[in-house]
Amino acid sequence: MAAPTPARTFADLAREGLEVEVVCQKCGRTSVIDPTAPALRDKRIGGRRYRCSAAGCRGIGLPSLKPKTSLWAERLARHAANVRK
Ligand SMILES: [Zn+2]
Repeated sequence: MAAPTPARTFADLAREGLEVEVVCQKCGRTSVIDPTAPALRDKRIGGRRYRCSAAGCRGIGLPSLKPKTSLWAERLARHAANVRK
């Protein structure tokens, strides 16, 4: 039995302020998947294959979870504000 994972679908990711960044193993192209896209929201994250969208590449992408950049910056700012008080 695997440890319970809080985020299972892309909608879960969005709720937790995470996004999936995929790095192509062939050309190094990085793209961020928008978890709120209607086509993806209810899709499971695990067991998916990511293919590079660069013309003529079709390399396999390696997905990794990242905190949503904007949200992360916001959190850091809030933290900094709390520290100053
Ligand atoms: Zn590629």
